[in-house]
Amino acid sequence: ATTVAVAEEVVFRSKLPDIEINNAQTLQDYCFAKMAEVGSRPCLIDGQTGESFTYAETAAMSRRAAAGLRRMGVGKGDVVMNLLRNCPEFAFSFLGAARIGAATTTANPFYTPHEIHRQAEAAGAKVIVTEACAVEKVREFAAEKGIPVVTVDGKFDGCVEFRDVIGDLGEELAADEEVHPDDVVALPYSSGTTGLPKGVMLTHRSLITSVAQQVDGENPNLYFSKDDVLLCLLPLFHIYSLNSVLLAGLRAGSTIVIMRKFDLGALVDLVRKHNITIAPFVPPIVVEIAKSPRVTAEDLASIRMVMSGAAPMGKELQDAFMAKIPNAVLGQGYGMTEAGPVLAMCLAFAKEPFKVKSGSCGTVVRNAELKIVDPDTGASLGRNQSGEICIRGEQIMKGYLNDPEATKNTIDEQGWLHTGDIGFVDDDDEIFIVDRLKEIIKYKGFQVPPAELEALLITHPEIKDAAVVSMKDDLAGEVPVAFIVRTEGSEITEDEIKKFVAKEVVFYKRINKVFFTDSIPKNPSGKILRKDLRARLAAGIPD
Ligand code: ATP
Ligand code: MG
Repeated sequence: ATTVAVAEEVVFRSKLPDIEINNAQTLQDYCFAKMAEVGSRPCLIDGQTGESFTYAETAAMSRRAAAGLRRMGVGKGDVVMNLLRNCPEFAFSFLGAARIGAATTTANPFYTPHEIHRQAEAAGAKVIVTEACAVEKVREFAAEKGIPVVTVDGKFDGCVEFRDVIGDLGEELAADEEVHPDDVVALPYSSGTTGLPKGVMLTHRSLITSVAQQVDGENPNLYFSKDDVLLCLLPLFHIYSLNSVLLAGLRAGSTIVIMRKFDLGALVDLVRKHNITIAPFVPPIVVEIAKSPRVTAEDLASIRMVMSGAAPMGKELQDAFMAKIPNAVLGQGYGMTEAGPVLAMCLAFAKEPFKVKSGSCGTVVRNAELKIVDPDTGASLGRNQSGEICIRGEQIMKGYLNDPEATKNTIDEQGWLHTGDIGFVDDDDEIFIVDRLKEIIKYKGFQVPPAELEALLITHPEIKDAAVVSMKDDLAGEVPVAFIVRTEGSEITEDEIKKFVAKEVVFYKRINKVFFTDSIPKNPSGKILRKDLRARLAAGIPD
């Protein structure tokens, strides 16, 4: 007779106790809950122009934006598209739409017209808020569809200026009560790293929960205070920055310094000028600072916390960067658009910090459950065993936009969201991501995580950047090959690189071939576009 063992689920929780989260309110009310305390303090500072808005002014601008959007015909259930680089108007428009029960879909203004139109159409955008650099990409399309275009930085034919939309202060809206916590408030698109970007429905409830899991409670996991100055450099059109920088910063009453685009010199200037204390980054920025002789520890002296997320950061890189910021804590968060987005956060960022390990992407956030499952059998795994990371809690998405089938394949009947990421939880509840399930290279059945090889490669002083992808091989099935960007003046050879790796890894992880290239394709959230590199290999012109 066969006995069917009913395996018990191993569920991982935060080391911090659960807290009470009032997520049955509007996101805007939740973010501005401390108004009485912070009203006259600086909220948003435009790093480029120096223009500054207090908390009271930011809330007022959002109310005016709400009234303006409503005058343009936007109402509950409608979608506004923010096609913007970081700017204060991004926040005003987002919070304004939230106030009237509308959702904002965010897109990169540097997308091609085709990509923008596809998203605007799929999301059903009723208004597009954009700026000079993208206005030409949407004007004709919007005119055809009868979608008004609002610009934040000047007058353009056929467009309305943001300042005319927002109208006067003092206009009252009695609208909040019709907004339901389960209404969609943000419609971000996933980064499109593995395929086409997917529209993700995040509700008031999910975003409030996610922000609270980070910055609320007596001992917040991610401690931002009223005295902190956050650098908002990562694009707000990506959910990492929208959630963990803008919304978390507002909730905490911090000051948020907005930067439009990444430039090392400008970054150092802003840090010095505003005494930035919190710097949310992505790995490519960490690499650039770690490797740049131009940035000194003194330049970054005011920073007490550096967060990295959205893409893997190996232990070696984390250690190298730490040497540049001896007085700051460096740690990682782990997010995924569908997860609301934060699954895990470094506990060294807590008000009463915990000791953490380099290379870990944090511990599961409070008020949530995490488990690791065997991708083949679905069995729940214990500590130190790698499998697919799954998360459950009120912060996760309502579903993919107009795609119940994909939603069902991602969130199971028990409410677990399957991330497609492979990782494990160690003895101290710290999570380590190995790689994406889809990216793992199978060499004769052995598993080779490209992220691990990339982390090793960039520790070489003559390697500026690296990406590893699989290449078909008759004998092994797949082999790892590397695209390498050499540092200026370096003449390091394919052979030297292969030997460097071979010294450090088991035989099946050895690099089979090296292609030198000028740059590694990445998206703005810092993720390597391996699909583009595989396409180059397939086309037979790997350079
Ligand atoms: P798409 O789903 O469209 O292919 P994407 O998954 O890159 O794109 P996002 O939702 O922006 O879109 O990214 C989530 C993914 O980013 C996670 O599933 C994970 O693979 C990766 N990621 C996020 N944080 C980390 C981290 N700290 N370390 C390693 N990987 C991370
Ligand atoms: Mg994804």
